[in-house]
Amino acid sequence: MNLQTPMLDTALESLRAEVTGSVALPGEAGYELATPWNVAVPVNPCAVVAVESAQDIAATMRFAARNDLRVAVQRTGHGAVPLGNDVLLVHTGKLTECIVDPETRTARIGAGLIWQDVIDAAAPHGLAPLAGSSATVGVAGFLTGAGIGPMVRTYGLSSDHVRSFDIVTGSGELIHVTPDEHAELFWGLRGGKGTLGIVTTIEIDLMPITHFYGGALYFDGADAARVAHAWLDWCADLPEHSSTSVAFLQLPPLPQVPPPLAGRLTFAVRFASLADEGEAEQIINRIRSVATPLIDAVGVLPYAAIAAVHADPIDPMPTHESTVLTTELSHEAVDTLLSVAGPGSQSPQTVIELRLLGGALAREPKHRSAFCHRDASFALMVAGVLVPPSADAVVGHSQRIDRVMAPWTTGRALPNFAPSDDPDQIARTYDEDTAHWLSALGNEHDPDGVLRVGQVMRQIR
Ligand SMILES: Cc1cc2nc3c(=O)[nH]c(=O)nc-3n(C[C@H](O)[C@H](O)[C@H](O)COP(=O)(O)OP(=O)(O)OC[C@H]3O[C@@H](n4cnc5c(N)ncnc54)[C@H](O)[C@@H]3O)c2cc1C
Repeated sequence: MNLQTPMLDTALESLRAEVTGSVALPGEAGYELATPWNVAVPVNPCAVVAVESAQDIAATMRFAARNDLRVAVQRTGHGAVPLGNDVLLVHTGKLTECIVDPETRTARIGAGLIWQDVIDAAAPHGLAPLAGSSATVGVAGFLTGAGIGPMVRTYGLSSDHVRSFDIVTGSGELIHVTPDEHAELFWGLRGGKGTLGIVTTIEIDLMPITHFYGGALYFDGADAARVAHAWLDWCADLPEHSSTSVAFLQLPPLPQVPPPLAGRLTFAVRFASLADEGEAEQIINRIRSVATPLIDAVGVLPYAAIAAVHADPIDPMPTHESTVLTTELSHEAVDTLLSVAGPGSQSPQTVIELRLLGGALAREPKHRSAFCHRDASFALMVAGVLVPPSADAVVGHSQRIDRVMAPWTTGRALPNFAPSDDPDQIARTYDEDTAHWLSALGNEHDPDGVLRVGQVMRQIR
């Protein structure tokens, strides 16, 4: 159904008068903000509202309710979901408040910031936010999805260190949310993605980190089996001050890819440790001694270079992602993964990553949240780029990985790594109780269902 009718266009004109930000219809300047980082996802809203304040968002919610539209939110589109022309897209890029308080070691950050903005603001004070693997991901999307960063075993989820949120609910109400005020929303916003409202600002703890020991060792694909089995044993007694993941990489021969890694299968061991240099070096030397890395990029790094650990892609691209959580993994599980990801597997995926969880993540924080996977041992993430020649094979192959790894998987997924508007896929990111309570809270704060679109946990759509 094409809802881009002249009547709607006229109504959208009235929205322009209600907001201080801009409203862009298809073809107008500003509409290009809808284009997500993941350009494979069709994001075609009837208008993009580049909001400048919480009041703009409230006006957009009320306008949508009056006109039988839905409201979705996007900053970077790293976790984009398909949106049609019955949707108004709130773009948060102008919400750029960033106040660092070195006394309380906190930062008040606008939903329009990406992690690198906060890293750069905190660094002069000897402080650091718990960013994700990519510093170009948006802070609000990341934190509402729980947030698993490169130091997750040391500090737990990044959202475990949120102090407050300011949100606009689907009914247009502005609410300040803390562990004591609207505690049920404080629970649900940390893991519930956009279910309970659009976040405008977040207050987070900053950590006294200036440097860390870490980076990545890149091995030839031919060494993947030896290194992967050694890594599994090494993980078993890895102290909590250290976090790690491994990744089968098939990076394209592009100028930004270091030549030893381009156009071939390689195997990366990522490492981020807050142990002192000598101890951290001794720990990673066990992996260094298994095979000779093509590139050894592990050493003391400033926290501002945290994104170097994973070296995630920066430029927009068409990707397909899937994710699943695992129980304890055996050497048989590693062999099974090697059979679909390792040398000779014909894997079309660009990255197949196994992230070690546990450590501080496994403990409930002082204030519980809607994240319900603290008992998982590893997160298995698969990302393929949907360009020829491998584009057609990516989705089927990721389903094959799910099938062969099923004996070791929990069937659940991380909210952040499962962008989807499919209710069954969204339900996989919660246990039944959490799904029920998130949905009930969504109904309470958004009775008209304005936010019932995209990646939200609503049992009635
Ligand atoms: C290369 C790459 C690396 C990544 N690394 C990590 C990682 O290390 N750890 C991790 O946990 N995740 C990681 N992710 C996943 C990422 O955290 C999610 O995709 C997240 O949703 C991105 O947020 P965004 O605002 O940038 O994306 P967007 O696509 O703009 O937003 C995605 C969703 O987040 C929610 N959202 C965004 N803004 C708001 C808001 N203001 N209020 C309420 N809800 C909002 C909405 O549900 C929205 O649909 C990675 C993703 C990519 C592509």
